[in-house]
Amino acid sequence: MKETVLSRPFILSLSLNKISKAAVKTKTLDEQVYRCVCDYIGANSNGVLVLTGGEPFLDSRLSEILTYARNRCWLTSVDTRCMFREFPTLDGIQQIRLRLFSLNPNLHNKLAGDNRSFQKTMVFSKWLADNYSGGKIMVFPVCRENYTEITAVLAWCRKLNLTPNIFVVPRKHEYALDYQTYHIVQRTISYLPLKDIIIDVPLLGLSGWSNICPGGRLAMHIGIDGGIKPCPHFPYPLCWLEKDIPSTWRTLQERIADLNDLCRSCEHFSVCGGGCLANKNEAGKDHYCPKEGVW
Ligand code: SF4
Repeated sequence: MKETVLSRPFILSLSLNKISKAAVKTKTLDEQVYRCVCDYIGANSNGVLVLTGGEPFLDSRLSEILTYARNRCWLTSVDTRCMFREFPTLDGIQQIRLRLFSLNPNLHNKLAGDNRSFQKTMVFSKWLADNYSGGKIMVFPVCRENYTEITAVLAWCRKLNLTPNIFVVPRKHEYALDYQTYHIVQRTISYLPLKDIIIDVPLLGLSGWSNICPGGRLAMHIGIDGGIKPCPHFPYPLCWLEKDIPSTWRTLQERIADLNDLCRSCEHFSVCGGGCLANKNEAGKDHYCPKEGVW
């Protein structure tokens, strides 16, 4: 199947800051990178801007970039770890994404690396339910410690009118699933009702689901130092921000094509798209790929 390649990213994900867990230090997005992104937004309309971190609500440029984006008819989404002191202003934001690791407060706090994270997430989700009419997404990153909670988390999300977004943490994550458990999780996910749920697990294409993960196909992520990845979970930058976003996107597409080189000859490529880019090794093999004979 011929791959359709966009001339520019439809979804632009940008880290406004990065918070190191150990020292609770914050590094902020390089000003030149920030300006390059603002220029791009100013010159193009109708994209999707995803602001992430760290904690975007702690960056003083948040309202400026949201204004740029809304003036050019971009949809805007903000990922939050609920690290603010007061409830933030949500003007110009169409979607908020929170993160829940577990319904067990201690386990959630351990996985989030913040011993008040569970309480802050609960308080903010309830506040959103009463005060915010935009999209409310609860991301559930599935890992070794919480994979038995998938059904319970979905039921809980429904009660709070939150849309669940399930994804499996990448293979290099501290709590990554082993091969067997990954496939148990994949089976569990494939039995879930399809309504009002977001699932970013590319290998599910092998079970008849379409690969809806946009990383690298529709989306490009820019890190605080201008490092470019298909998504924030990819383990290292595939290239660096060049003179502008479209030329950088072309370079990213070349790097991804290299990573998918071997997968392209697989009969399943059109449905699984080469698996999850964040799970590939240097040879391009998805760590969890069950197919023999391709490698
Ligand atoms: S070899 Fe690549 S394209 Fe084929 S099933 Fe595995 S990950 Fe998918």
